[in-house]
Amino acid sequence: MALIVQKFGGSSVANAERVMNVASIVADTYNAGNSVVVVVSAQGDTTDDLLDKANEINPKHSKRELDMLLSAGEQISIALLAMALEKLGCPVISLLGWQAGFNTNKNYTTARIKKIDTERVSSELDNKKIVVVAGFQGINKYDDITTLGRGGSDTSAVALAAALHADKCQIFTDVEGVYTTDPRKVPNAKKLQEITYDEMLELATLGAQVLNNRSVEMAKKYHVELEVLSSLKRVPGTIVKEATTLEKMLIRGVTKDSHVARVSVIALPDTPGIAFKLFSKLAAKNINVDIILQSVGRDGTKDITFTVDKDNAEHAKSAVLEAFPNMTDENFVIDSDIAKISVVGAGMETHPGTASQMFEALFEAGINIQMISTSEIKISVLVDAKDADKAVHAVHNEFFSED
Ligand code: ASP
Ligand code: MG
Repeated sequence: MALIVQKFGGSSVANAERVMNVASIVADTYNAGNSVVVVVSAQGDTTDDLLDKANEINPKHSKRELDMLLSAGEQISIALLAMALEKLGCPVISLLGWQAGFNTNKNYTTARIKKIDTERVSSELDNKKIVVVAGFQGINKYDDITTLGRGGSDTSAVALAAALHADKCQIFTDVEGVYTTDPRKVPNAKKLQEITYDEMLELATLGAQVLNNRSVEMAKKYHVELEVLSSLKRVPGTIVKEATTLEKMLIRGVTKDSHVARVSVIALPDTPGIAFKLFSKLAAKNINVDIILQSVGRDGTKDITFTVDKDNAEHAKSAVLEAFPNMTDENFVIDSDIAKISVVGAGMETHPGTASQMFEALFEAGINIQMISTSEIKISVLVDAKDADKAVHAVHNEFFSED
């Protein structure tokens, strides 16, 4: 007998049939003798539809009213799922975020959970009820409803699992788990049995859209063991947990991020403090920089190249121009036709050959590397956008081919 938190995303509860399917998974878990707390998202595209409605009426709507609106999506899901469980003869109660004790800071639309008062949920569990909680929402110090940002239900589930000291937190979705690369694009992508929090964070940041980033950070911080699994096919998923408890794999996954741009700033003065001036300006404008390359100074000048999110390329240029008012368009080369290919794996920390193995695979595929960056558990290269898919295949084959 365990305490299990189960989270179901929007696609898992998209229609009546899916809601009944979720109810049967929950009922089976409960009937096996477990205490079950369920966190659900809004059905299907409900949140997007509500956003459209808001923008149709008034694109300049306040964030407070937007949260009032968006939180309604999850309210529908919890009531429907509770009714489905009633139909299956299970004792159940649905609770909105505030009823389940989710206290957040005051920021509408991007609220952070401050604490969870678990009394209500615990007492319902003591009464042998299945507790169905609305994800993505809480209440702030003004007693107003807040939401946690898009994809926030994962965070709700992990936070509740941590607060209740649950034995595990299962995140049900429409894929079977976390894969070594995008299974829709690479047919021999493999489902991972296990992955560490840090690897999952890298993969999530790099665009493997199975878990919301913040939920993984929280799971790591509070040692919540996660399982990512399918609500449509009852097979084991991927366990996300502490590095110490799992076998180190050299490479856990290969990812592609096409949403990057490369900005080169040419002929900066080769004097102390230039990089500081440039990057502190970008930081002040909240522009996140990823890979950085500085050339060797020559004839009193040097070049600095960095990558940013595509949407930020022009902002980055303006920021640099603010920091160096003497520069002109001539000093910039911006390329948005690029992609970042990364390999992630905690094992590479102790395996010096990984980078060269990756570079060799790219070389054999005839792909030119523009920039390289490495961390303890990740190697990223920048390539031409047109080579991106080929690069993923080549690198994935190198590390995961069967033979
Ligand atoms: N319904 C919200 C969204 O679509 C929260 C979630 O799905 O996690 O962003
Ligand atoms: Mg959703």
